[in-house]
Amino acid sequence: MKPLLSVRDLVVEFELDRGILRAVNRASLDVYPGEIFAIVGESGSGKSTLAFALLNLVPPPGRIAGGSVLFDGTDVLKMNGDALRQYRWREVAMVFQAAQNVLNPVMRVVDHFVDTAADHGEPHGEVLAWAEELLRMVRLEPQQVLHAYPHELSGGMRQRVVIALSLLLKPRLVILDEPTTALDVVTQAYILDILNDIRRRLNVTMVLLTHDMSVVAKVADRVGVMYAGRLVEVGDVETMFYRRRHPYTVGLIQAAPSLIGDLESKKPIPGSPPDLIQPPPGCPFRPRCTYATARCEADDPGLAAVGDGHLVACHHWEQVHL
Ligand code: SF4
Repeated sequence: MKPLLSVRDLVVEFELDRGILRAVNRASLDVYPGEIFAIVGESGSGKSTLAFALLNLVPPPGRIAGGSVLFDGTDVLKMNGDALRQYRWREVAMVFQAAQNVLNPVMRVVDHFVDTAADHGEPHGEVLAWAEELLRMVRLEPQQVLHAYPHELSGGMRQRVVIALSLLLKPRLVILDEPTTALDVVTQAYILDILNDIRRRLNVTMVLLTHDMSVVAKVADRVGVMYAGRLVEVGDVETMFYRRRHPYTVGLIQAAPSLIGDLESKKPIPGSPPDLIQPPPGCPFRPRCTYATARCEADDPGLAAVGDGHLVACHHWEQVHL
């Protein structure tokens, strides 16, 4: 199958007083039609910056310093003007972090749908019927929600409104940045269930950014693990949980709280992520890695295939235990 989104050697840099911060470092990934691809990593790993670059929307002082982003074969980084405007929203929509706070507090929900459609030249007559259908899809009652102001809705309801809004122009790909953060666990599970349902009904492709491995386990088909601006492991969700081969992925899963284990079974990853302005030589995970050798300091490992669709950036992946 041909990928819908294909990213190669993408580099995003920020020019700061202290020097150049490389927030995304030669990231490469493919996202296939109809799948949910999760990008997982700690805060500051570069997930959100990567998402902005996928929309060619990196804010200054950031800039895309290299690589390509192909959407259905067209290079997004070479788009401008109308083509870029069409690409954002119509082809690819984004649900930003803390999305429930992006609704305008003095506008009713219906006005958000009508204004977005009008901004993109959609005929007014069809907008309301489609908005109602989308709200039903996210399990909201349109008559109760459409004429409400955002403050009249709970956080989980606002999040669902924003997900429905992102689907208004029938995009082929939706990027969701931490869609369940700041919500209680019951609402989180409900929203993940809705995302699965939407993917099935609309056949929409999703890129989901999260720091939470339980979110990955619940909805993702494939996963890319990010560390210090790089993708360090890519594979299907089963591989990530049962056959992972990068020490950072192992650490991420061991650090996740378990409902059935005791507190001692949770092992935080020692140390902290590197300074991206002055990263350590060689592998960026080396200062925190129990498998590190002299080779890891001398040689920066690239992402390489170790199995069917399984890529790992580690010199010693064969020795990594689960
Ligand atoms: Fe650890 Fe070396 Fe692998 Fe980096 S390359 S993750 S330092 S073993």
